[in-house]
Amino acid sequence: MVDVKNIRKSICQMAKHLYDKNIADSSGGNISVRDGNLIYITQRRSGEVYQWLIEEDSILVTDICGNPVIGSVENITREATTHYYIYQNFSDIKAIIHCHPLYMMVFGAAHMEIPAVSECTRDHLGDQPITCTPEVEPGSENQAIEVVKEFKKRRAIDPEAGLIVNIPYHGVFIAGRDLNSTFIAIEAAENAAKIIIYRKLMFHDDPRADFSIHQKLSRGYLEKLEEQKQYCKIGQEYSDAFGKKRIYDGKCPYISKKF
Ligand SMILES: [Zn+2]
Repeated sequence: MVDVKNIRKSICQMAKHLYDKNIADSSGGNISVRDGNLIYITQRRSGEVYQWLIEEDSILVTDICGNPVIGSVENITREATTHYYIYQNFSDIKAIIHCHPLYMMVFGAAHMEIPAVSECTRDHLGDQPITCTPEVEPGSENQAIEVVKEFKKRRAIDPEAGLIVNIPYHGVFIAGRDLNSTFIAIEAAENAAKIIIYRKLMFHDDPRADFSIHQKLSRGYLEKLEEQKQYCKIGQEYSDAFGKKRIYDGKCPYISKKF
């Protein structure tokens, strides 16, 4: 959990999280957050020069067209074109991470989709596989256009879908409604890629291995599970917090007690 009250601090903490978890590498990547009309974005070469141990003062603040409010325009990353283009096209997007996660990049290098195999991937990104853009020049306007094109395709299929795309031989762009959920989603996507690679390595010729997905979990189902707070059956006998025998009636027996 990053410090959501201090945007610059939260971006620095997130950068370290991503690097420590091998989701980001030193060769590139950038993080941005939108707050009202302002965009907070990591400066160029944050991975290469600082290995993501960045200071709050290094985070640039700009408007949605990249005009600097705090910091120098020379320090804006070349990938900013794609960040700004995503914000301009999706008003609900408040955070973007671009990084080079190894396992997802294996799929990108093969121009292959990553199916949503884990419950976490399906919860945060939806049932759709993670697709690839065509090969594009890093940081180019063309990259921005192709990334947004894939994001729009995802939303056309499922208006609630998480926005993520793999760029062959480069890395991943992911966009979300806040920085924490965007991090959870990229971690889930990288784990999905790992699961698929490892199961293939371990079981590829084993006829007992079943690679299909049998259980479709809807987002509604997962939300319903979260709402459910009843863990015992009505009429079930149990020992309460003080060791007294009770019959469970669906109500908490301690509400009126002071602790
Ligand atoms: Zn990159």
